[in-house]
Amino acid sequence: MTLPHKDRFEIPEGVIYLDGNSLGPLPKGAAARAGEVIASEWGQQLIRAWNTADWISLPARVGDRIAGLIGAPAGSVATGDTLSIKVYQALAAALKMNPDRRVILSDAGNFPSDLYMAQGLIGTIDKGYELRTPAPTDVAQAITDEVAVVMLTHVDYRSGRLHDMKAITEKAHSVGAVMIWDLAHSAGAVPLDVAGSNAEFAVGCTYKYLNGGPGAPAFIYARPDIVETVEPALSGWMGHDAPFAMELGYRPAMSTERLRVGTPPIVQLSILDAALDAWDGVDMDDLRAASIALCDTFIAEVEARCPELTLASPRSGTERGSQVSFAFAHGYEVVQALIDRGVIGDFRAPEIMRFGFTPLYIDTADVVGAAKILEEVVKGELWRDPKYQTKSKVT
Ligand SMILES: *Cc1c(COP(=O)(O)O)cnc(C)c1O
Repeated sequence: MTLPHKDRFEIPEGVIYLDGNSLGPLPKGAAARAGEVIASEWGQQLIRAWNTADWISLPARVGDRIAGLIGAPAGSVATGDTLSIKVYQALAAALKMNPDRRVILSDAGNFPSDLYMAQGLIGTIDKGYELRTPAPTDVAQAITDEVAVVMLTHVDYRSGRLHDMKAITEKAHSVGAVMIWDLAHSAGAVPLDVAGSNAEFAVGCTYKYLNGGPGAPAFIYARPDIVETVEPALSGWMGHDAPFAMELGYRPAMSTERLRVGTPPIVQLSILDAALDAWDGVDMDDLRAASIALCDTFIAEVEARCPELTLASPRSGTERGSQVSFAFAHGYEVVQALIDRGVIGDFRAPEIMRFGFTPLYIDTADVVGAAKILEEVVKGELWRDPKYQTKSKVT
């Protein structure tokens, strides 16, 4: 099947959407599904819908569909909560697996929330844990036998730089460290073999390349051979072996379900379930080839048209996720001027303009069109317009 599948999405007229790495667009069928869940299931079936519409197994069903996209076996992925929560859970569980070590190793390219969650957990445990954040290129050599857990985001949210999942996991295991991968910018962006990497944990969100909508639930994978020994730090009733037995003591489910916490967000999960239909028949290797071609074209077009901008992503497609970033001192203003002209990308402080290339609905004409408009904005200094100078809360 050839890409893209623009017909599977509602993309507004006149918009070139290069921000699917931050919030995927609305997949066709998702709104109808949400409407049905609200009006018919919630509205008519009321609480019975947990059984009659099988809401109760929706988190696991959706988890299995995500598993298929990340190279994990069925039953190994739980859904719910937000990614920050899933990071916390994976990290807390990993530290328990290595009780004599005190170092959490991440990198300076990681998304702040992952680092903040680690800092919060360190404070809560209060046993002298230390978070180390070397430069992404120095991580491999910083994996020493002091390290309890290596916690990395596979694709750097700013630069798009890709870590070698298999090699780093092997290095972590060779010194006895536990490995956690954050797949926020990988799931739905690059082919993944989570099971083959042998990492203990993987986490990710579903509102980026998986198009689950704002606030869509996150996911967590635990390696099947260890899951029954994983100690859940957030021991909510939905992770209990028998939630409706209403026992006084916590007894975790004997599967990844133990990493669930509370009541699942059924409407949002239903939207995600419908959104995952957009992947039907899509081969991840074809997606990767299309992604690299789109990104390469964008780099070539922008470098030819706008020498003022500096490429802030790896030049080689195999070292990049599915995004391209350019640094420019007035990046924020340029992005606002682009958005005003229908090219939606985003800005990450201090000076990164970020463009996501999502081959499910972006084609070469979009890429060239976006580069032309970028040239107009940069060459014509259209970004100097005062209306682009005030920063919104969300950049
Ligand atoms: C997007 C992203 C998050 C966001 O976490 P939420 O809890 O879903 O807001 C966290 N970590 C990484 C690496 C991300 O890219």
